[in-house]
Amino acid sequence: MQRISVSKELFEDILLKRVSILTKENNKYWKKVLLEPKIIDDNIEYSIKQFDALTITNGLGKEDPSLVIECKQIKYSSSKDCFEFFLGKVIEQKNTNLEENYKDNLIEQLLKEKEILEDKMNRDHLTKTYNRRKMEDDLEIFSRQSNSSFLSAIFIDADRFKGINDIFGHEVGDKALIYLAQKLKKHAQILNGEVYRYGGEEFIILCFIPKKHIIQKLNDLKEDIKSEKIYHSLRDISITVSMGVSFFSDAKNAKEMIQKADFTVYRAKNKGRDRIEFT
Ligand code: GH3
Ligand code: MG
Ligand code: MG
Repeated sequence: MQRISVSKELFEDILLKRVSILTKENNKYWKKVLLEPKIIDDNIEYSIKQFDALTITNGLGKEDPSLVIECKQIKYSSSKDCFEFFLGKVIEQKNTNLEENYKDNLIEQLLKEKEILEDKMNRDHLTKTYNRRKMEDDLEIFSRQSNSSFLSAIFIDADRFKGINDIFGHEVGDKALIYLAQKLKKHAQILNGEVYRYGGEEFIILCFIPKKHIIQKLNDLKEDIKSEKIYHSLRDISITVSMGVSFFSDAKNAKEMIQKADFTVYRAKNKGRDRIEFT
């Protein structure tokens, strides 16, 4: 059987069926191997020898990987000036752990896809912040952590948001929510926390930060949100938010912490909006 030694990469490609035609240049060696002279009517004509199978190796040692593969046809390509071996199915393989590698790669790829899918399920489509589902999962985890005494919930509700939709339209309202979410994401990092869209124009930040530092940081967030304008041809839009803050250490459980933060937002609304209230 004809043996052909190829590079490691090509060997892998052949074994994993990424390559189905093997080419060899038209040189002295391959002419000698493949061309069979025949005398027909006093002329010498050449036919190309055919093999049912080929042994393909990567290296020449006994321990080197090799495979026996079906050879459907060998042709000469005049345009490329080379011999082309049309490969079929792998009949036998030796010293290859590529099947294993192939499976490992496949598993790795599937795990990556699963991760991407899970992340999609955990995020809000419009603002790309985490969603309420993810918040509930995280609350479970955070409330069991050893640093749970630092856990706090910041309920953020955009002020008079219905008015933005009414005046500028729903699409502009969507843009304003994206703007707000970006600001929240930026500040959640400073707060050592994460943002979740609780629903509509309401967001929650769960974070781990000592009480004494939280006031200043939330004031910065509140001012940052209103300092920037969202451009509109009618007139530029600025938004404000009302916030309610609660602490895990003051609540019976995570659920109550969220309820308290929600309730505290109403106080901020009643006191005139654009402000922060604590439980
Ligand atoms: P308040 O200061 O009392 O919170 O007033 P508000 O108008 O923000 O509160 P309200 O609950 O009356 O209205 C919330 C508005 O948020 C109504 C709803 O149309 C809008 N909203 C909720 N989700 C979306 C969204 O995904 N896109 C847009 N454009 N608007 C949304
Ligand atoms: Mg609301
Ligand atoms: Mg609102």
